[in-house]
Amino acid sequence: MIVLKTSKELVLMKEACKISAEALRLAGEMVKPGVATEEIDRLVSKVIKQHGATPVFLGYKGFPAATCISINNEVIHGIPSKKRVIQEGDLVSIDLGASKNGYVGDNAATFAAGSICPEAKRLSETTREALYAGISKAVAGGRVGDISAAIQDYCETRGYSLVRDYTGHGVGKKLHEDPSVPNFGTAGRGARLTPGMTLAIEPMVNQGGYEVNVLGDDWTVVTADGKLSAHFEHTVAITANGPVILTKED
Ligand code: MG
Repeated sequence: MIVLKTSKELVLMKEACKISAEALRLAGEMVKPGVATEEIDRLVSKVIKQHGATPVFLGYKGFPAATCISINNEVIHGIPSKKRVIQEGDLVSIDLGASKNGYVGDNAATFAAGSICPEAKRLSETTREALYAGISKAVAGGRVGDISAAIQDYCETRGYSLVRDYTGHGVGKKLHEDPSVPNFGTAGRGARLTPGMTLAIEPMVNQGGYEVNVLGDDWTVVTADGKLSAHFEHTVAITANGPVILTKED
């Protein structure tokens, strides 16, 4: 069931989203060679708690940290660790969420550690642009498939593939709500986009094929062919006046 939010609820949700955005920005600033992913996780946890919010990923289905940090061929759900030290040229995807006032903000971005190769840079930029291509279709009266198709077209015409096994999602009182927002699909299909819907739109884009595997830690999702992956995400509200990106600091 899709839960629509009132404008009052959106104001409350904006607070959680703003905190998520700040935490993500600060996490990104820490992405440098020599930094352990656990150090980034600790900072994120601290920032979120300083705002009186809760790191919503921690304990979610047993996930052991506040952030998912996924490097290079890792797509999503990487577990921060003291032993995982960022190297020059790494492509580092960070996903995190904060809960405040009973509402959740969810966002992700891919950052470069030092100087990255042109292929990695192009993948990351395309993924970010695909997110905005998707958001531009998050318009009342349209369909979820409009968002999916826009993301898919943007990436596939540039030679990339879209992960099929994981999707964007509704977000609100819970981290994962209906509807599912796939990064592939057909325009004009799927649930009707309605003012008050809040969606986590999040292209996960692979340099090679779309197939993925889950590692033995039961969390880390990696590309099956070992090629690179990137991930960007915003929490977006559908309004009568067009899409509003909630996970922004302003
Ligand atoms: Mg998400």
